[in-house]
Amino acid sequence: MEKQRTLVLIKPDGVIRNLVGKIIMRFEDAGLKIIGMKMVWVDDEFAKKHYREDIAKKHGERVRKDLIKYIKEGPVVAMILEGVDAIKVTRKIVGSTYPNESAPGTIRGDFAHISRDYANANEISVRNLIHASANQEDAEIEIPLWFKEEELHSYKTIHDIICFEEKD
Ligand code: ADP
Ligand code: MG
Repeated sequence: MEKQRTLVLIKPDGVIRNLVGKIIMRFEDAGLKIIGMKMVWVDDEFAKKHYREDIAKKHGERVRKDLIKYIKEGPVVAMILEGVDAIKVTRKIVGSTYPNESAPGTIRGDFAHISRDYANANEISVRNLIHASANQEDAEIEIPLWFKEEELHSYKTIHDIICFEEKD
């Protein structure tokens, strides 16, 4: 299987809760390689490119509108992770969308607990700390939206050397 790249955002709640270090540690501990990273405070136009119309089809207009507001609340930390099956592995580490259902040991399960029902009843965002590309198709749209090719770096980690036995 080919190595994959995926976009991860630490959303504004993760940044203002000082969870950046703890969150990044979980991806590094699993051996995923950070090949690009930056802090960005997005504007409305950019937020709408990230949370595209398909979000409204999936969850309704109310959720998309609140998500666009949520992502603009403060700076986010954006990173590209690379590794074997990186898209799925990253989503596993992040946990499921609704923190009340996310397993312990996942980022959302350990650092949040809000439910979909509570968010719907109160018309608020599900503040779940992280965005991670859902699949290959989304990753291919999201990676070039957030990073230029020259912002991504190629280097070997110890995982490349001892786990994957990469040849020069
Ligand atoms: P994921 O982030 O797990 O890929 P989705 O792409 O389905 O989940 O949704 C994007 C984001 O929308 C979620 O991470 C969450 O912050 C927010 N969200 C999802 N459902 C609701 C809801 N019912 N009310 C408010 N916010 C929601
Ligand atoms: Mg998603």
